[in-house]
Amino acid sequence: MRYLSTRGGMPPKQFCEILLEGLAPDGGLVVPEHYPRIGLADLEQWRALTYPQLALEILRRYVDDIPIAELRTLTERTYTADAFGSTEITPVRTLEPGLHILQLSNGPTLAFKDLAMQFLGHLFEHVLARAGRNLNILGATSGDTGSAAEYAMRGKHGIRVFMLSPYGRMSPFQTAQMYSLQDPNIFNIGIRGVFDDCQDIVKAVSNDAGFKARYGIGTVNSINWARVIAQAVYYFKAYLAIAPRVGDPVSFAVPSGNFGNIFAGHIARQMGLPIHRLILATNENDVLDEFFRTGCYRVRRGAEVHQTSSPSMDISKASNFERFVYDLVGRDPREVVRLWALVDGAGGFDLSGTELARQLPQYGFVSGASSHADRMEIIRHVHRTYGVIVDTHTADGLKVGLECRDPAVPLVCLETALPAKFAGAVREALSRDPEVPPTFRGIERLPQRVEVMDADADAVKSFIAARCGG
Ligand SMILES: *Cc1c(COP(=O)(O)O)cnc(C)c1O
Repeated sequence: MRYLSTRGGMPPKQFCEILLEGLAPDGGLVVPEHYPRIGLADLEQWRALTYPQLALEILRRYVDDIPIAELRTLTERTYTADAFGSTEITPVRTLEPGLHILQLSNGPTLAFKDLAMQFLGHLFEHVLARAGRNLNILGATSGDTGSAAEYAMRGKHGIRVFMLSPYGRMSPFQTAQMYSLQDPNIFNIGIRGVFDDCQDIVKAVSNDAGFKARYGIGTVNSINWARVIAQAVYYFKAYLAIAPRVGDPVSFAVPSGNFGNIFAGHIARQMGLPIHRLILATNENDVLDEFFRTGCYRVRRGAEVHQTSSPSMDISKASNFERFVYDLVGRDPREVVRLWALVDGAGGFDLSGTELARQLPQYGFVSGASSHADRMEIIRHVHRTYGVIVDTHTADGLKVGLECRDPAVPLVCLETALPAKFAGAVREALSRDPEVPPTFRGIERLPQRVEVMDADADAVKSFIAARCGG
């Protein structure tokens, strides 16, 4: 399998060559040259596979420069009952016949990002050791991604994590999750400022090519191809768990922000998994809902981004969206270049009335948005009707999923976080606290390890240099 750029300006590369990179050198996103097709007979056989076996079957089709025995070791090390709470890894909870929740949040940080990030931790360590290299991961987080990355990389050889967070501005639970880690390769840097200040520092450091090369600086953001493909696995797992017969249609509802999770569903569908609809749910930040309803993609300005009670979906643009548009335009990089020139110049593009808009329905996407009141209502409804508590992000997915579902087709709603992570909103809806898993009880009282600094890129650089032998 070779990898290309959505903008056409990168010579074909192998998986391990693109693994540690962010954007392609031409500013595009890295994509595989095709999606391998999986027939129904293969799917039938895959029913018997465990999660790590299924992950291996899917990943080996995209990774052909790591020997299969090594890849098997990596999936077996990653997807354990120890890390994910059960041997099923992503169990399905049936609310009623035809309505299911896919539990993706039983990993170390209680959110779905663990499923890909834990694999990335093992994969990075393996690939770095083989190449005799070290990697210093620099990131900015307002909560979820940072903790998923830290829990994936803690204790890994050849890897250090420098994670910037807005000091004093995360929930006590999120703060404790990150700052209580005592591993010597994890560095929490609390910035006196807001999330944007943290992100600006990451950009400033990354733009210093000399520093970046000298200290082997890398990132693990949501455009990382290995993360995206590792997420395709649980669509297969869920389908095989609930489809009455292989070949029957199943729909998925996905709480969406940067379009990574649902794009993995698109990949599964392109590979031949019989997905009927991919139901995309946004909160008040509805840039993606607007596109799938109207054909108009309009990036929001910073001031237009709403702070909501499902904060992990508060985005102004969707970083993985370019990968979908590449497929939509028939994989013609010139069209992607043309459309992203409009994004950069005019803040977006409008496909309504064009041939591309007529192509869109064949990809199975439908969409909707929800408000804070909708989330509260769904949390109450699901609790009252099924005795189950869901978090606010999952509630976005359920709300839109129930609205858009075809009653004849089973619906799987992806649970992207446990309610314990967003206890305040659950308390508001139900006047009670969600259950906290045993490993996290009392976490707020553990000693914390954080370096607090002003929003100053040079200070962050010195901090990194001092810890990387420079
Ligand atoms: C990251 C995240 C999302 C959004 O996923 P994307 O892949 O960015 O679309 C939704 N819910 C939770 C809880 C998340 O952490």
